[in-house]
Amino acid sequence: MSKTTRKQSKSKTPASPGKGTICIQAGYSPKVGEPRILPIFQSTTYKYEDLDQVERLFALKETGYKYTRTGNPTVAAFEQKVTQLEGGVGAVALASGQAATLLAIANLCRAGDHIVSAATIYGGSYTLFNNTLKKYGIEVTFIDPEAPEKEIQKAFQPNTKVLFAETLGNPALGILDFDKFARLARTNDVPLIVDNTLATPCLCSPFQLGANIIVHSATKYIDGHATSLGGVVIDGGNYNWENGKFPELTEPDPTYNGVRYVESFKNAAYIAKARTQYLRDFGACLSPFNAFLLNLGLETLHLRMERHSRNALALAQYLQHHPKVNWVIYPGLEGNPNRARIRKYFLSNSGSGVLTFGIKGGVRAARTFVKKLKVAALVVHIGDARTSVLHPGTSTHAQMTAKQQRSAGITPDMIRVSVGIEDAADIIADFEQALGGTE
Ligand code: PLP
Repeated sequence: MSKTTRKQSKSKTPASPGKGTICIQAGYSPKVGEPRILPIFQSTTYKYEDLDQVERLFALKETGYKYTRTGNPTVAAFEQKVTQLEGGVGAVALASGQAATLLAIANLCRAGDHIVSAATIYGGSYTLFNNTLKKYGIEVTFIDPEAPEKEIQKAFQPNTKVLFAETLGNPALGILDFDKFARLARTNDVPLIVDNTLATPCLCSPFQLGANIIVHSATKYIDGHATSLGGVVIDGGNYNWENGKFPELTEPDPTYNGVRYVESFKNAAYIAKARTQYLRDFGACLSPFNAFLLNLGLETLHLRMERHSRNALALAQYLQHHPKVNWVIYPGLEGNPNRARIRKYFLSNSGSGVLTFGIKGGVRAARTFVKKLKVAALVVHIGDARTSVLHPGTSTHAQMTAKQQRSAGITPDMIRVSVGIEDAADIIADFEQALGGTE
């Protein structure tokens, strides 16, 4: 019996269903005669009784849908399911993971503010932080997440508003030291935002480990079939916004009838503000059709993560003894320093489906290897059912300098593999034939 199964069966009560049940059932409960499957509400608009009702909706005195940019029943079902999976108080779904990261930050920071972020994050998040946010007056200090706490502490400033990191860094695959990061967030009284994309809510529950806000690229494992882009921001409802650092959450919002978010929405203030201000203003909403597909993906997330993890471990074990392989990083692999963190912070002994390895012969050998693959394909993506490979140094992380690449854990010989849920033996055989004659 896996550790997840043990844990889930131990804590299973009707009031707290296991993650598998949430994956399938949460977010949509049809009444008798209604569709069994979540319908796609492909509508931009909603009909009302009279002006009074619309007035109450716009004054936030009544809840309901106004316009699909700020809310839609199919999207809401997806948001509720993710909220329940992560154990939060509310979520906002977005058009992509990148939009989710931007919204999570924009909801807290303005020009003159500062963020402390792990350097070992997804290349697109790094570029957003290092270039685009800078243009809008938000400064970011990148830190090595493995540096001693005292060292990281030096990065904080009086204007620091956020600490940001990934549960499982893409693509360096370090597992976050949650105890250290939660302590740093508490000491400096800033919210900890965690990107939980690679771990997924089925393998790790960051709110239970000190995170305050979670973001996902739902495009990855949540979708799981490479059909749809999407993102989601989830509010843990566990941060005190009344500490004087976030007046936009406590003072009247002149752009929305003078609402005070904490007063009106209590511990769901952050996510209410995110929807009210930034879905409205940025407009990066998730489409109902993509919400339908992402919801379908979630239905098998718990099963897929077990299989992705098992296959990734099998491939990592094979690669580590291969003469054409310099090194292998997979958090679940014997000897990997992150194995202890999987035991400590993850819900099971699964290490997710992404591994990296160094190919002997560097970029040249990587080019030959990738061309010879038959089961796996060269794809700028992770987290879907099919096995995919990528050379981060010449693609997702190509915008970084060599020094930045090193601090993000990228080396010229690195190949990232998103191990799919095909038969492990077929994936291994494909790598074996493709590694032959690569030097
Ligand atoms: N966060 C992580 C960890 C990612 O890997 C990615 C994309 O690869 C993103 C965020 C951005 O997500 P999207 O591609 O859906 O915009």
